[in-house]
Amino acid sequence: MPLILGCIADDLTGASDLANTLVKQGMPTIQTVGLPADGLLAADNDDAAVVVSLKSRTIAPEDAIAQSLAALAALRAAGARQILFKYCSTFDSTDRGNIGPVGEALLEALGADFTIACPAFPVNGRTIYKGRLFVGDVPLSESPMRHHPLTPMTDSDLVAVLGRQSQGKVGLVPFQTVNAGADAIRARFAELRGQGVRQAVVDAITDDNLLAIGKACRDLPLIGGGSGIALGLPDNFRAAGLLPAQAADTKLPPGRGHAAVLAGSCSQATRDQVAWMAERRPALRIDPLRAATDDKNTAREAVAWAKERLSDGPVLIYATATPDEVRQAQDKLGATAAGEAVERTLATIAADLVEAGVRRLVVAGGETSGAVIRMLGIKRLRIGPEIDPGVPWTYSLDRPALHLALKSGNFGGRDFFLKAFDKLSEIGGPS
Ligand code: ADP
Repeated sequence: MPLILGCIADDLTGASDLANTLVKQGMPTIQTVGLPADGLLAADNDDAAVVVSLKSRTIAPEDAIAQSLAALAALRAAGARQILFKYCSTFDSTDRGNIGPVGEALLEALGADFTIACPAFPVNGRTIYKGRLFVGDVPLSESPMRHHPLTPMTDSDLVAVLGRQSQGKVGLVPFQTVNAGADAIRARFAELRGQGVRQAVVDAITDDNLLAIGKACRDLPLIGGGSGIALGLPDNFRAAGLLPAQAADTKLPPGRGHAAVLAGSCSQATRDQVAWMAERRPALRIDPLRAATDDKNTAREAVAWAKERLSDGPVLIYATATPDEVRQAQDKLGATAAGEAVERTLATIAADLVEAGVRRLVVAGGETSGAVIRMLGIKRLRIGPEIDPGVPWTYSLDRPALHLALKSGNFGGRDFFLKAFDKLSEIGGPS
């Protein structure tokens, strides 16, 4: 099957979230970690979509642009007909970027003059009305995102936020238009274009809205948004005869080998998940101060602890802590050093666990997942069944071949960790 949709995601777990949506909508999709090496895309011609995961959310805008343009070039060379720029459903960015600068650079490179910005993800509570982004029941600026250490979101008005990041004009497709369906949305696109608008924030409250927006985006070379914006795209490709009508087979190989969970996220959802699993399975806490002074021995002891227990079922190793505990570690070590020490230690533990026969691994935390994937040297992931909204099982196409679930910190229900292993044995056959 020729490559149809090329996606550029600004982080790793966000990329899995998007790939998950595409697979659920019947589009065989592969996720690459970082920029595809030569021939990587061409070799995967069973896939109708490729999601390139960058780590470009909080880097300097110039670097984010350079990486995104390189990804664009690779995707176009592989035949992609349409490009999707994926960012977080909470529009994680600063006044410098990187959503506006990257969006405008991609537009220019594609020779296009108009795109949309729609991070709505209703099933996870992210909705947009009058250009304002809501997280659950509150505006973005009143949500926990206002305290984010790197991208604090203190303005819910996405037209204003994107406007500050962009050179060109930013407009709005209001809810009334979206609610009237794809034709009305397309007419509004034409109107905004006529006014010289280059990027339009699009209101969306339901998945039906996103389906209509997707339909209206059929002819746009570039689409910007969260994973929800991909809901309606596969139908466009099916209508054009590019994608088979039947749903893609998302079956991964059966889950085998030992099972472990590594948690480096301190987000509320992960804290609940860690507490839930710790009540049911063996759980070991990593002390960030010890990790910072002696990561090797911290990792070695954790792996020795795990090895004694792996044959009895899944184990949990976590650095997850409360905001107070995190602050204490950060006060002593500095925020960056504390984060890096924990990431390095968990990544070393991951590598040693795989060495010890772990083949089903759940990782909680975006940065943590990135550190683990890099340490394992994994470059390509096949996307499998969804565990909870936005989090699929994936299967590494490089050595070591293993099943991985990479969870964005705030995703998933309380029982996510053990549910993940249940889901894998259900879909992939007996372990
Ligand atoms: P999320 O997806 O929830 O943002 P991330 O893994 O991206 O999770 O980020 C969490 C960061 O917090 C990582 O850099 C991790 O190493 C760091 N961290 C984890 N536990 C602690 C802790 N106990 N003290 C300080 N930092 C921690």
